[in-house]
Amino acid sequence: MTAFAPDRPLRAAVIGSGPSGIYAADALLKQVQVPVEVDVFDRLPTPYGLVRYGVAPDHLKIKSVTALFQKVLSDARVRFLGNVELGKDLSADDLQAHYDAVIYTVGASSDRRLNVPGEDLGGSLSATEFVAWYNGHPDAAAREMLLHASGVAVVGAGNVALDVARILAKTAGELHDSDIAPHALAALEHSKVEDVYLLSRRGPLQAKFTTKELREFGELAGADVVVLPGEIAVSDEDYAAISDNVVKRNVDVLREFAAKVPQGQPRRVHLRFLVSPVELIGDAGGQVSGIRIEKNRLDEQGNAVGTGEFEVLPVQMVLRSVGYKGVALSGVPFDDKRGVIPNTRGRIEHRSGEYTAGWIKRGPSGVIGTNKADAAETVAALLEDAPNLTPAPQASRAAVDALLAARQVDVVSLEDYLRLDAHELSSGQAAGRPRLKVAHRGAMFDVIRGGR
Ligand SMILES: Cc1cc2nc3c(=O)[nH]c(=O)nc-3n(C[C@H](O)[C@H](O)[C@H](O)COP(=O)(O)OP(=O)(O)OC[C@H]3O[C@@H](n4cnc5c(N)ncnc54)[C@H](O)[C@@H]3O)c2cc1C
Repeated sequence: MTAFAPDRPLRAAVIGSGPSGIYAADALLKQVQVPVEVDVFDRLPTPYGLVRYGVAPDHLKIKSVTALFQKVLSDARVRFLGNVELGKDLSADDLQAHYDAVIYTVGASSDRRLNVPGEDLGGSLSATEFVAWYNGHPDAAAREMLLHASGVAVVGAGNVALDVARILAKTAGELHDSDIAPHALAALEHSKVEDVYLLSRRGPLQAKFTTKELREFGELAGADVVVLPGEIAVSDEDYAAISDNVVKRNVDVLREFAAKVPQGQPRRVHLRFLVSPVELIGDAGGQVSGIRIEKNRLDEQGNAVGTGEFEVLPVQMVLRSVGYKGVALSGVPFDDKRGVIPNTRGRIEHRSGEYTAGWIKRGPSGVIGTNKADAAETVAALLEDAPNLTPAPQASRAAVDALLAARQVDVVSLEDYLRLDAHELSSGQAAGRPRLKVAHRGAMFDVIRGGR
């Protein structure tokens, strides 16, 4: 028999308000087995995780999912508690004391490295940092992004690499119609970029990007797309054997690109395949001045193998986009190798009442919608366990509020965030842009607290 009733609902904490956190809260609301109350925490003053800070600023339609997310957070059984960081403002033990169940949905905020010499030279950074900067993430708002480079290499063969390459190749006019952060727009307006090289280790059959994103390179206002036919060669036999429609369409689009005559645009995006970075070359000032790449062939298993043939590309900036990685939370089990919280169908191993969903559960792959089924699986496990969960000793909103107040945490509610949201939209409208993102924490609080 479940211990939970309408006058003592199951109190769940969701740590992280990205897609997986919101979908987990939604799944808890939609079930009828157990009465629930859900507190959704985020370390940032804003909800929605990578929908706000990852999804490319020129892909506004994708962000419309936030209307649905807002509905979930507006439910009377749910609270949003922004600007509360697990590990700083709250510990895993605090959560145990105040919640009957906890779902960790903190995403994967770190990135994988290339592990080649020169990786730490000036001008070499992760796509994660660059994306955070152009999307106005408060942790990256103060960063000075040097955009003196005329050549930029983007290492990776997924949609994030395509996003970054596209943003670098777009004209100021194109970017104006996006919700790119004002500081990034100002910097990119003066960008000297002429050549962007997207470097894929393997061939087009192994690339992870989607056709829609790839096609956008053929529609850029101020950039030609350049593809070397030899690097995308696929035999008639291999082409006929492609079973994945996305891969087939990608090959078709790449063949179209390879056949295009360059229009003499001021910028070029070179989509390179079967090449691996082996060294970042530095100048006397410790800045990147080139990237040495090795041409690859594929072995029988489809793995890239170096051919011993090298080339140096003249780039002054290198952005690596070779995968995200989860970061351990204090007091929560962690699989360092895989960068995830070890779990079985969302149940954290050897723990009672603790669950996980999203990128920190399964690793950094999948689109926003993938997190819906993933979170539903986790919530199903939680509901299965509900009759046997130990009720938390201090399970009330008031107890959580008192704890956070005692620690002087300036909690941001949904209403507070909506004030910021309205401000960003109206200032955007005044500037003829979809939204003017406020990036600095201080400025966010000025809007939220009305200039306090
Ligand atoms: C650059 C980029 C572009 C993308 N573009 C698209 C796209 O166009 N379309 C698409 O469908 N998918 C896209 N994705 C994938 C999509 O964003 C992910 O599938 C999804 O965001 C994963 O959700 P999540 O909730 O697991 O993690 P996240 O979205 O990362 O959310 C995690 C949340 O946890 C919070 N958090 C972290 N640590 C703590 C802590 N200690 N205490 C409290 N809160 C914490 C974070 O602030 C964040 O809000 C993109 C991903 C990236 C990286």
